[in-house]
Amino acid sequence: MWGSTQARGTSSCLQGDSLIHTIPFWFKFVIETQSYCNSRCPNCMRNTEPTKSRWRNGDPIREQMPTEKVLDLINQASDLGYRGHIKFAYYSDPSCEPRLVSFVKHAREKGLLPVIQTNGALLTDELCKQLDGIVDRAIFGLSNRKPPEYWRARFPKTRDVFVRTDWEDPNAWIITHFFPQKERLEAAIKRNIDSPCHLPHMLFIIQYNGEMSLCCDDLSHLWNLGNAFEASLEELWWSEKHTEILRTLSVPGGRLNYPFCRICPEGDIDLEAEYAAYYRGTSYIGIRPRYM
Ligand code: SF4
Repeated sequence: MWGSTQARGTSSCLQGDSLIHTIPFWFKFVIETQSYCNSRCPNCMRNTEPTKSRWRNGDPIREQMPTEKVLDLINQASDLGYRGHIKFAYYSDPSCEPRLVSFVKHAREKGLLPVIQTNGALLTDELCKQLDGIVDRAIFGLSNRKPPEYWRARFPKTRDVFVRTDWEDPNAWIITHFFPQKERLEAAIKRNIDSPCHLPHMLFIIQYNGEMSLCCDDLSHLWNLGNAFEASLEELWWSEKHTEILRTLSVPGGRLNYPFCRICPEGDIDLEAEYAAYYRGTSYIGIRPRYM
């Protein structure tokens, strides 16, 4: 028997006793456990975004998500069957999070694969020791100033250590909505405006204040997708509104329905190829729940 669970605010259906969700599972999970970053990179959305959502009266906002909420979100993801990557930073740096080691350990215990993506400036040798082998992947981003061998020596037990060293080359900067090089930005927008966008299918982002983002550039949570302090992860991901937006963006011309997508430089991705490439060599390859 088929029955709708839309009264709970989701767009999933019941078949027998099984929940059949109408959009697939995400495969990158982000909890912004705190809002601060120690860097001021000129290309970063937190510095270029006109609403200045990470600033208050000229100073960076320094707020934490309550610890019990972070743990609850990890538990919810695990209970839903998610076993993929989890990051504890969005446009913040995880090394500015004093609770990082305890969150990483908890996520591991719950079967998830923790990842750190950081500029590395505040990662002490002691902190590296505590994280090594518990994180599945350590990514040292564009603002990293140390050579790959420095980080590989500090993370010998971590499956994947990826180090960017091209921070001085502006051509290596990722182009986001308010990228400072206008010509490159405009060319990217023009190139992608008629493409579908599958990025939001892959990313589940909860900001430090509980707000859900649609995609990496949605710092100001423009779509009002709901708040994780008031609704469950299941209700947020499979809400009718979120489902409808993802479907709209899945076809050519879908971006034209949303003002922020009309000025977006991001290209489309092939979801299955992205999943396969991202999880190659991990325990999550081939076991992603589908719920289709
Ligand atoms: S088109 Fe751009 S702004 Fe819109 S959902 Fe995709 S990545 Fe986000």
